[in-house]
Amino acid sequence: MIPQFTDTGLPARVVFGFGTLERVGEEVRGLGCSRALVISGPNQRTAACRLSAILGALCAGMCAEAAMHTPVEVTQRALALAHSTDADCTVAIGGGSAIGLGKAIALRTDFPQVAIPTTYAGSEATPILGETDGARKTTQRTLKVLPEVIIYDVDLTLSLPPSLSATSGVNAIAHAVEALYANEVSPRICLLAEHAIGLLCRALPEMVQNSTNKDARSNALFAAWLCGGCLGSVGMALHHKVCHLLGGSFKLPHAATHAVILPHVVAYNASAAPAAVGCVARALDVENAAEGLFELNRRIGAPTALREIGMPEGELDKAADLAVQDSYWNPRPIERESIRTLLGDAYRGQRPRLWK
Ligand code: NAD
Repeated sequence: MIPQFTDTGLPARVVFGFGTLERVGEEVRGLGCSRALVISGPNQRTAACRLSAILGALCAGMCAEAAMHTPVEVTQRALALAHSTDADCTVAIGGGSAIGLGKAIALRTDFPQVAIPTTYAGSEATPILGETDGARKTTQRTLKVLPEVIIYDVDLTLSLPPSLSATSGVNAIAHAVEALYANEVSPRICLLAEHAIGLLCRALPEMVQNSTNKDARSNALFAAWLCGGCLGSVGMALHHKVCHLLGGSFKLPHAATHAVILPHVVAYNASAAPAAVGCVARALDVENAAEGLFELNRRIGAPTALREIGMPEGELDKAADLAVQDSYWNPRPIERESIRTLLGDAYRGQRPRLWK
């Protein structure tokens, strides 16, 4: 029998395939727009220039300044450019950083957005925006930032290096994992999450071995969409909170932080959410989900220790304090000393412990 549930679906048009970037002009016109501000990060200027050329007269200008964790000062400069070029929509190409800047502009202008993701971060499918002002990252959820159109072009992901493919793929897995034990989980989300975790855990090792494996790339990008949709439909718990504070306050790289933290949070929550964590284990085809995720990291060359990715040991206490500062849902109560222990394990790259 299907259990009682409530489910919030999200409206978005999705174009998926190979070579779909060529369809961006018709998608911009379909939104009733004619002056697109193209957004990318500095490393993806070439992709942004190609996009601008495809848009032709529909391109009003280009901002290639997007940065991780969406700093508000970059948003202010991009907004000024949007106004001075008389833009009426944004087209963001790149990872979560470029898409985050598009969302930050939409929040302040109500511009329609086309998102063209080139990583597996999944931001394009969520109504969530995280922004940093100084050292503090704040996250909000509003339909104002949900992109109206997503263009998934698998060809654009072939250039993502193995290390980023690995960590970004685990970032996507993390969305599905936390959705499984969220308060708002529904049978639809469970199906999507389990399927997406399975697709990613098979595709990631293949992609890392051969980054131009089109089957693996296609499966991973499709799964990333499903994972983003899972995150977008539910609330966030301990894993996302810890990753956001580590990224916002200590400038750790977003996807790599997710990869390190995920096995430890799954171990921490396992006894409080046995059905959800059992579903993760089934998707990974392992006995123990936390161990399976730790091993997946090792297999695909993702980092397993916070000290490898720039976390100062002396800040672990502060990070634990920040993790318990605001109250939020998690299947297992969040206790400061336990979180400090978890962060210590993650700092040293230990295997996830068996929490009672
Ligand atoms: P990113 O966008 O910063 O990209 C990482 C690096 O990969 C950059 O140097 C980029 O230029 C490069 N890159 C991207 N695609 C490439 C490709 N195809 N080939 C070669 N290089 C490529 O990192 P990310 O992990 O995708 O996104 C992280 C950001 O997204 C963070 O700010 C995070 O908070 C945000 N995010 C938001 C949500 C949400 O729902 N709001 C979800 C996930 C991530």
